[in-house]
Amino acid sequence: MIKVEDLHKSFGKLNVLKGISTTIASGEVIAIIGPSGSGKSTFLRCLNLLEQPTSGKILFDNQEITNAKTDISKFRQNVGMVFQHFHLFPHKSVLDNLTYAPITVKGLSKLEAEKQAKELLDKVGLLEKASEFPNRLSGGQKQRVAIARALAMKPEVMLFDEPTSALDPEMVKEVLDVMKNLAMTGMTMAIVTHEMGFAKEVADRVLFLDEGKLVEDAPPTEFFSNPKTKRAQLFLEKML
Ligand code: ADP
Ligand code: MG
Repeated sequence: MIKVEDLHKSFGKLNVLKGISTTIASGEVIAIIGPSGSGKSTFLRCLNLLEQPTSGKILFDNQEITNAKTDISKFRQNVGMVFQHFHLFPHKSVLDNLTYAPITVKGLSKLEAEKQAKELLDKVGLLEKASEFPNRLSGGQKQRVAIARALAMKPEVMLFDEPTSALDPEMVKEVLDVMKNLAMTGMTMAIVTHEMGFAKEVADRVLFLDEGKLVEDAPPTEFFSNPKTKRAQLFLEKML
């Protein structure tokens, strides 16, 4: 579904991504791990063109999205993104957070959008919060709303950038459980995470980034039991 070829990204003189190549198949769940500053967020942001790659190609469903002629807004609707700090619309109710983009971008009627939003809120266990405002929710609840909001656009792929890193420990599980359920429905997912247990259990592949390079790309059983590089070994020793 996604093919990345020799992706480079620099900010001025800082080379952050130094030639990343990989693929993500439909239905695959990819965990992206690595030290702070290794380029994980930049990689994820390049995947949906929140950052413009400096060079290299990204193909989505065989279409080159890094080509200037591609309609990026159309493509972006197919990619849901969930951030560490939720990014909910603070002045909108939970329900309105979910219906806003489907109504304004996709042209759904209010009735259709609300029906769909309620189904999604039910799925993430928050139907009773539909008319609350985000500041009345816990961190875990906010993140579940953010996931439901991304799903409301019916994306083909979901990208998560450290979705549980800003949460109090007791709220991590409720968010990971929602993500696990989503993985089981066959959603294609790329998740930057420090939750090694989750990566082990849910991911089909682990990508280990170090200093802007993809140094390991392996199934979790292989990566966690037998990391090939010294860098990954050291990283795992610190994490576990
Ligand atoms: P990670 O998510 O793995 O912690 P990032 O992708 O956020 O790493 O950052 C990798 C490097 O790129 C860091 O040195 C960071 O400071 C730098 N960086 C990220 N975004 C920008 C930006 N918009 N402008 C300049 N430097 C950036
Ligand atoms: Mg990051």
